[in-house]
Amino acid sequence: MRRVGFIGLGNMGGPMCGHLVAAGYDVTAFDVNPDAVAPLVDAGARAARSVADCASGAEALITMLPAPPQVEAVWLGDDGAVAALDRGSIAIDMSTSSTAVGARVARAAGEREVDVLDAPVAGQSIGARAGTLAIYVGGSEGAFERARPVFETMGDPDRVFHVGPSGAGYTVKLLLNLLWFIQSVAVGEVLSVGVRAGVSLDRLHGALVGSPANSVFLERDVRMVLDDGDYDEAFPMRLVTKDLGLAVDLAREVGVPVELTALVEQIHRRARTLYGDDAGEISAVRLYEDLAGVKLRLEGT
Ligand code: NAD
Repeated sequence: MRRVGFIGLGNMGGPMCGHLVAAGYDVTAFDVNPDAVAPLVDAGARAARSVADCASGAEALITMLPAPPQVEAVWLGDDGAVAALDRGSIAIDMSTSSTAVGARVARAAGEREVDVLDAPVAGQSIGARAGTLAIYVGGSEGAFERARPVFETMGDPDRVFHVGPSGAGYTVKLLLNLLWFIQSVAVGEVLSVGVRAGVSLDRLHGALVGSPANSVFLERDVRMVLDDGDYDEAFPMRLVTKDLGLAVDLAREVGVPVELTALVEQIHRRARTLYGDDAGEISAVRLYEDLAGVKLRLEGT
């Protein structure tokens, strides 16, 4: 597979597409924002005139778009990608999107004998730039194996996972994010209560990290806040609340009551309302700092 189309060249898609160009793939790129296309063209990609132009002749077409409405519009809208792809090619959506939109794309693509993979990623924009993303792929084994070299060019080859049939990639990614954002709320609450109760943050944090209640979020990720007051604007709250809303939708679709998920989603929505759409993804911890009237910062003892 050499000819790849790439649509959606933002924080994630830009560097991911750049890795494909650097690896020698014959890349055609498209974004509604021309400024996002220019650096890829400088690196050696061809600029497409439209979604359909980007899909035409591609052996694999990749999308990395904000949310389900954009995914649906690009694949199934007027002048959309599915209708422009050749038989035998692969349609790959790497956005964090919904299984419902994914199923509609898969149905339309199947009618044209185009394979479909959902392949969302984890690892933040820093991982996209470093080429170390984890990738969770849903779809047929055959399509996965054909696309594997493309995934391994954009991600960590040891963390490219075939997680099940079509839709399984979206499901795993939404649940992974959900668990992480539940921990963001839990850690914000716990640390704020402890500090208000008079325990030094250094001692409380150290004790919790050394306890059975430890987590990667507590030990590593929240350190951005505790060390530097950095709430991580590389992943904005508008995308956090989009992902949590999709997790609630998923639970509703499969008929599982999720009181905790619904509550956690609302807490993150409150943080987005207070701090803005572009506020960093760990803003729930900031919400608890403000509620408790404390700043959670390690002294480094
Ligand atoms: P972004 O907003 O930076 O980039 C999206 C790009 O898509 C933009 O360049 C935009 O112009 C383009 N676009 C929008 N609509 C389009 C259309 N109709 N046709 C062509 N181009 C269009 O978003 P991002 O941070 O790159 O995130 C992309 C996806 O990756 C999202 O689903 C997000 O949830 C997921 N994700 C993001 C991160 C992160 O840390 N930023 C991490 C993991 C997963």
